[in-house]
Amino acid sequence: MDPRLKTIAENLDSWKLGLDASFQFHCTACGKCCIDREDILLTPRDLYNASKVLNMAPTEFVETYCECYIGQDSRIPIVRLKPRGSIKRCPLLKDHKCSIHSAKPAVCALYPLGRAMSFEKGSYNHDGVAGGEIQYFISPFNCGDKSETHTVREWLTDFNLPIEDRYFLSWHAFISEVCLFIREIEGKVSDKLLDTIWTTIYQLIYLCYDTGEDFMSQFERNKTALLEIIQKSEKELGDLK
Ligand code: SF4
Ligand code: SF4
Repeated sequence: MDPRLKTIAENLDSWKLGLDASFQFHCTACGKCCIDREDILLTPRDLYNASKVLNMAPTEFVETYCECYIGQDSRIPIVRLKPRGSIKRCPLLKDHKCSIHSAKPAVCALYPLGRAMSFEKGSYNHDGVAGGEIQYFISPFNCGDKSETHTVREWLTDFNLPIEDRYFLSWHAFISEVCLFIREIEGKVSDKLLDTIWTTIYQLIYLCYDTGEDFMSQFERNKTALLEIIQKSEKELGDLK
């Protein structure tokens, strides 16, 4: 498991905060959280929002600012902001400011908060909503100062993050299914077929969006299309056994 995720999982009980719990933090705009970063992973909504605000298609945004790789644990395509230079500066940091401030990735907007999903085993369906719970937490940080007090709810509202984030629930249930599928077939299908499957997943998850149209309906459409492909592939592979 990714060491950062492992640390979160081990400490979640002591770090977690309810929506109306308060924490003390004031960002002093030093910009340090935008350098030495190799871990700004983008979900499809982050990618859509950032592309839209820069008036780019998601494909162009990815080619300009990101890199894609297969996750070591998840085994699915991951998109991250590609750091620049020896200081590993985020490519979207311009003149010491975030150039997509109004559309910054959720992980940046939430900081110093984080969020994790908890699902009871077998409790989610393809809608990915039933049984899932978003858990907010605050991990130790060593920047800014503590001159302001916020509740989690206020922090989310200030950064335009939905309190009931149906997308976040749906996204996590969805990628759990895709991960399970890849783990099941990897090593059993040819490398060529696996590459084709990864490319299809990558395009449907991240790239097939028109930023002139509503995000959520396109996400649901792409999710349904990919789950249908997965179900069909599972059946065909099962028939070959
Ligand atoms: S996206 Fe913006 S806030 Fe996030 S690391 Fe890059 S410059 Fe900083
Ligand atoms: S969040 Fe922390 S590291 Fe980032 S700019 Fe604010 S004070 Fe600096």
